[in-house]
Amino acid sequence: MKTPITTVKLYLQVLEKMAKQNKDRETAGHLSKLEIQIDKLTRLVSDLLDLSKIQAGKLELSMKSFDLDDMVGETAEMLQRTVESHLFVLRLGSKRRIRGDRDRLSQVLINFLTNAVKYSPNGDTVIIKTGVKGGKAIVSVTDQGIGIPEEYRAKIFDRFFRIEGDRERTYSGFGIGLYISAEIVNRHGGEICVESMPGKGSTFSFSLPLAAEKKAKAKKR
Ligand code: ADP
Repeated sequence: MKTPITTVKLYLQVLEKMAKQNKDRETAGHLSKLEIQIDKLTRLVSDLLDLSKIQAGKLELSMKSFDLDDMVGETAEMLQRTVESHLFVLRLGSKRRIRGDRDRLSQVLINFLTNAVKYSPNGDTVIIKTGVKGGKAIVSVTDQGIGIPEEYRAKIFDRFFRIEGDRERTYSGFGIGLYISAEIVNRHGGEICVESMPGKGSTFSFSLPLAAEKKAKAKKR
């Protein structure tokens, strides 16, 4: 399903280039907006595919050992290139290798970061931290956004759950990102959680057990 969208995007880019060459600014502007929508569509299709995989019990993880701080740093830098409204501030201090599916855990971080940007229209900074606490590696994302009222905090990880009210008119979405993220983290034996102060901001985090990696290292010695 992804291939036709990729092809459409490619043709759009060609058309935009042609419009620019012809100095047709208006058409170039429309085409660039179309490209943004195509990117959203790509993400939606990929989320829906993940959702079906989860429901069919077929979301596969490719477990490998990797450096957690490197993954977090790379993911944030990659996303920062497309985000102009907010600055991602990195505080990486886990200094650990963990065992997990690097791409899937990066996907969880991307979900946290895109939400942090989306739900903090008046904020300009997003803080990304990694660390170790109680035998677990922790990754957290803190925004200065609208926050989440306490009664919804447990529910936002449910499938298709979005907070009701006027806000949905301004914030587009389908309510599946956090559901997929929670599934990925749980499948790693980890935990996903949220802390929030309505009107001030939220911190989304996930923790992963370090025990397996320690054992692996002990065996090598
Ligand atoms: P979507 O953003 O597409 O609606 P998600 O599953 O990623 O789906 O999020 C579910 C809901 O949780 C959102 O609709 C929003 O109400 C709330 N939410 C998620 N992240 C944040 C955040 N950083 N600040 C405030 N609300 C959030």
